Amino acid sequence: MTHRYIVGLTGGIGSGKSAVADGFARLGAAVVDTDRIAHVLTAPGGAAMAQIEAAFGPSVIAADGALDRAAMRELAFSDAAARARLEAILHPLIRSESARQCAAAQAPYVVLVVPLLIESGHWRKRCDRLCVVDCPEALQIERVRVRSALPEAQIRAIMAAQASRAERLAVADDVIDNSGTLAELAPRIEALHRRYLALAARS
Ligand code: ADP
Repeated sequence: MTHRYIVGLTGGIGSGKSAVADGFARLGAAVVDTDRIAHVLTAPGGAAMAQIEAAFGPSVIAADGALDRAAMRELAFSDAAARARLEAILHPLIRSESARQCAAAQAPYVVLVVPLLIESGHWRKRCDRLCVVDCPEALQIERVRVRSALPEAQIRAIMAAQASRAERLAVADDVIDNSGTLAELAPRIEALHRRYLALAARS
């Protein structure tokens, strides 16, 4: 099998991973998004739903058969064992589906979007290069509030469970600054796209 050049894309919640991934996709990169894969696995009829219902019962299942994300988030934040059980169900399915999508990608390189990339040896081993989307924490909180109406305390709890900004920057091969406007972001994505095309061609 030919080697596929994999750029791992990560950043804290609300840093702009999806916005950056969309930019790479528009330029011709393949995007494999582990959050999106997790959503499909936990949609009505998703491949994880039978195991989730067996593990947690009907209280985390919405009327349409999807995972009730708010109920599950509450349970996972208050109960570390429940979180571990959920991860034991989801992670192997996310890993195999993302590997399948990476292998099937028809593009010069793959952008693999993983929110907790640097926290995980599994994902780091899969990446040829690590790209971190960066912005100040206050801006992350503001963007998530606008996007999802989560209370600030919950956003801060999610951020506290993630690597710190400094930890991410310390391991990044490339940092993409998303503290400005989307118009300012576009040329930064284009510059990295050219770099990744060159790196992929040499790999
Ligand atoms: P992540 O995927 O890292 O959680 P998103 O890409 O979803 O972050 O961005 C969080 C929110 O902020 C989204 O609603 C997005 O549209 C918005 N956003 C991202 N980057 C910018 C930017 N540079 N300017 C304005 N809004 C932005």
